[in-house]
Amino acid sequence: MRLVFLGPPGAGKGTQSVRLAEQFGLAHLSTGEMLRASRSHRTELGLLVADYLDNGQLVPDQEVLDIVAKRLDDDDCQPGVIFDGFPRTLAQAEALDRLLAQRHTPLDLVVELLIDQGELLKRLMKRGRGDDNMATIQQRLQSYENQTAPLVRYYSERKMLRSIDASGTTDEVFQSLSTALEALE
Ligand code: AMP
Repeated sequence: MRLVFLGPPGAGKGTQSVRLAEQFGLAHLSTGEMLRASRSHRTELGLLVADYLDNGQLVPDQEVLDIVAKRLDDDDCQPGVIFDGFPRTLAQAEALDRLLAQRHTPLDLVVELLIDQGELLKRLMKRGRGDDNMATIQQRLQSYENQTAPLVRYYSERKMLRSIDASGTTDEVFQSLSTALEALE
């Protein structure tokens, strides 16, 4: 099973996708986590992407696609994958379609987490991650609106999109998501 999680920063993609991956025996593929790890290990990629991460801007597609392509061939990805925070641009979505077509493992579902702006800001300010200050939060919300929100249309035209209300508690949202995934099994 292969799923994409769409939704603005703070919608709960990370929390929910980790839990679902565990529940359904899937790999959790978070490009944000991989990029932050490359920075903290001071790899060549890490040095290249540090400024983007610090400013809340999207890392160039090619860098992101390279790490995803490599990760997809890991053993733990073979039973299935939850993509968390990827794709974030139309070019990434098209590239993901190609990567998965080459492997004969198409996407099963794209889940959009719906939540209003006020609740998002509250959650992001509470989270207190390194890149969670007011300026980067606003930049990341802007990047989402401009570059990632068009993916909602891309996937809905392909009849792959399922929108889920993400304003409830973690457990409530997890329940709705589990039900949607069970229907796929
Ligand atoms: P996240 O943990 O998903 O919120 O991502 C944190 C940061 O990593 C983002 O603000 C971007 O700078 C970068 N990032 C994560 N995923 C991507 C992606 N698919 N494309 C470009 N940049 C990304």
